[in-house]
Amino acid sequence: MFPAAFDYRRPASLDEALGLLTDDGDAAKVMAGGQSLIPLLRLRFAQPGVLVDIGRLPGLSGFSRKDGYLKIGALTRHVDIERSSELGGPFPILPEAAHWIADPLVRNQGTVGGSICHADPAGDWGSVMLALGADFVAHSSSGERVIHAADFFQGPFTTALKPDEVLTEIRIPVGSGKAGGAYNKLERKVGDFATVAVAVKDELDGGKVSKAGIGLTAVGPNNLKATAAEKALVGHEPSDAVIAEVAKLAAAAAEPKDDVRGSAEFKKDVVRVFVQRGLKTALARAREARE
Ligand SMILES: Cc1cc2nc3c(=O)[nH]c(=O)nc-3n(C[C@H](O)[C@H](O)[C@H](O)COP(=O)(O)OP(=O)(O)OC[C@H]3O[C@@H](n4cnc5c(N)ncnc54)[C@H](O)[C@@H]3O)c2cc1C
Repeated sequence: MFPAAFDYRRPASLDEALGLLTDDGDAAKVMAGGQSLIPLLRLRFAQPGVLVDIGRLPGLSGFSRKDGYLKIGALTRHVDIERSSELGGPFPILPEAAHWIADPLVRNQGTVGGSICHADPAGDWGSVMLALGADFVAHSSSGERVIHAADFFQGPFTTALKPDEVLTEIRIPVGSGKAGGAYNKLERKVGDFATVAVAVKDELDGGKVSKAGIGLTAVGPNNLKATAAEKALVGHEPSDAVIAEVAKLAAAAAEPKDDVRGSAEFKKDVVRVFVQRGLKTALARAREARE
């Protein structure tokens, strides 16, 4: 099938893009890498009147460390994160997760911001950002606002973003202690969306966990934050018994459905196993990290 007819606009600046979104209201749709939107257009699940292609806007890709945050431009491609040695040291979870996304063709074009805004419950970046406690910066013609990852994902393919807003930046707190993270994903074949995946992050202070984050992929209506499991880890020495209890709580937070990828019961158990496995890796990484 071919997409329905639409006007194509390629603004030269963010201000121009925001102006187009204000003028055209709900009829306008932003396109970044097009890896999720183009298939939707072809199936006519999306039929915008105006397509605002922001994919090559200057100043919205790359990363830097500033003001206690790792700042990632929304247009940063998955491949740029996957291949970054600069990120791999302090944030091993980021290249690890990027490597699990799709295949090299999609990773070359797709953007981290596009993936977050698409809000596929089986998308990988959402869970990673929930685990890392990220903030998302959105711009519209009326200004800037910051949305916590925990408030951003509101349902399948539904976010807190308004139609006239563009996600411009992801801010990940760097933290002061020894931090680690890990992303484990089960897929049916290379390049597939997750059957289940789990992102974990921990920060250590004197042998105890001072901060924890757990994000779950493909086991609910959107990427889920396993809040009760996180709370059960903070303030404790991460013994095997504590980790086992945290993993049980994370599995209880999952709301998977039976489908072609497996039964709900199986998926909950994968969550439990991946939380244990991920935490052990993340704790080892935190112990090795330089403060
Ligand atoms: C074959 C295939 C396999 C895939 N496998 C995986 C996988 O294993 N894991 C995974 O996580 N993803 C997977 N994806 C999705 C892929 O990661 C996409 O790159 C990503 O979801 C969308 O990024 P994009 O830049 O291409 O966004 P686009 O397709 O351009 O846009 C997606 C949506 O986000 C909106 N949008 C994009 N950027 C912004 C912005 N800055 N501000 C506001 N709204 C914005 C668009 O309006 C649209 O609604 C796969 C895709 C394909 C085609």
